[in-house]
Amino acid sequence: MKIIDHINKAKGQTLFSFEILPPVKGESVQSIFNAIDPLMEFKPPFIDVTYHREEYVYKKRENGLLEKVSTRKRPGTVGICAAIINKYSVDAVPHIICGGFSKEETENALIDLDFLGIDNVLVLRGDAIKTEGRFEPDPNGHSYASELLQQVLDLNNGEYLHEEVVRNKTNFCIGVAGYPEKHFEAPSLNTDLRYLKKKVDMGAEYIVTQMFFDNKKYFEFVDKCREAGINVPIIPGLKPITTKKQMTFLPSIFHVDLPDDLVDELEKCNDNAAVREVGIEWAIQQSKELKEAGVPCLHYYTMSRSKVTRRIAEGLF
Ligand code: FAD
Repeated sequence: MKIIDHINKAKGQTLFSFEILPPVKGESVQSIFNAIDPLMEFKPPFIDVTYHREEYVYKKRENGLLEKVSTRKRPGTVGICAAIINKYSVDAVPHIICGGFSKEETENALIDLDFLGIDNVLVLRGDAIKTEGRFEPDPNGHSYASELLQQVLDLNNGEYLHEEVVRNKTNFCIGVAGYPEKHFEAPSLNTDLRYLKKKVDMGAEYIVTQMFFDNKKYFEFVDKCREAGINVPIIPGLKPITTKKQMTFLPSIFHVDLPDDLVDELEKCNDNAAVREVGIEWAIQQSKELKEAGVPCLHYYTMSRSKVTRRIAEGLF
């Protein structure tokens, strides 16, 4: 079932959903089931599965020289989605990205998803390769999420690459990313909103936000979206802080601010167990306020660790 239909069917009730990462290469699918099992009692109508592009690693050869090797540390997004649907009978939403894909490879992946009965995709540009400073598209790929979105829309119209006639029409519901604190490359929030509106005007049916720790930022973002004529559901993405390292890691990687009150509480913590308690309590308060405001869904970035998300969801769902 499409995400937009889940939201409409809920008739204003806030849904619970979460995002998982495919297992690290070599781990079994059971590690993912172990992460999902404890969260199933909260009845998620859908589970997102991230996509991780290739990384470069250096291997030392016998002659002492280093060889640059391209590797995918977390392959298997499509397979994990199929496994989730098969085991739990809930919808799985694969993330699809521009980075590292030619248009041909994207088309083949979308055909596989369609054959598997997957009718939702979260369409993203993807980030730069870790060792590269800026995002470089595949020479035969897409530079922006809107271009990838157009390819999905074309398939929904039965238009395939290099085919003259209309073929099987896919039926993907398309979600896109939004940034309450602005995407880090955008010169201003208004510019970023203009491109977000473009994705929605093209046919994206819902937005999932980057994590944020201050609900005010989400509410202001929603207001600005509505003023700009973006009227699709905007699902807030939440990530509880669980380690002290994340106080600097999250702002540097995800370009988000931590509110002073949260920082003050985290600084008082002597170990990560204490940090986790503060992070969970903060996320519970954020979730309660967002739920009371009637958000369509609370979407948790679990990083495939479910204990913390479970503590937050208890009492809320
Ligand atoms: P875009 O919409 O393409 O925007 C990228 C930047 O370009 C923005 O600054 C925008 O303002 C600007 N822009 C857009 N269109 C144009 C244009 N036509 N001309 C000029 N500028 C333009 N990454 C992964 O690799 N895998 C994942 O699974 C993944 N999941 C995510 C899930 C969520 C909910 C979110 C919020 C992010 C996720 N990301 C993931 C990260 C995402 O790929 C990065 O944030 C990426 O840098 C931007 O992706 P986007 O889809 O927002 O890009």
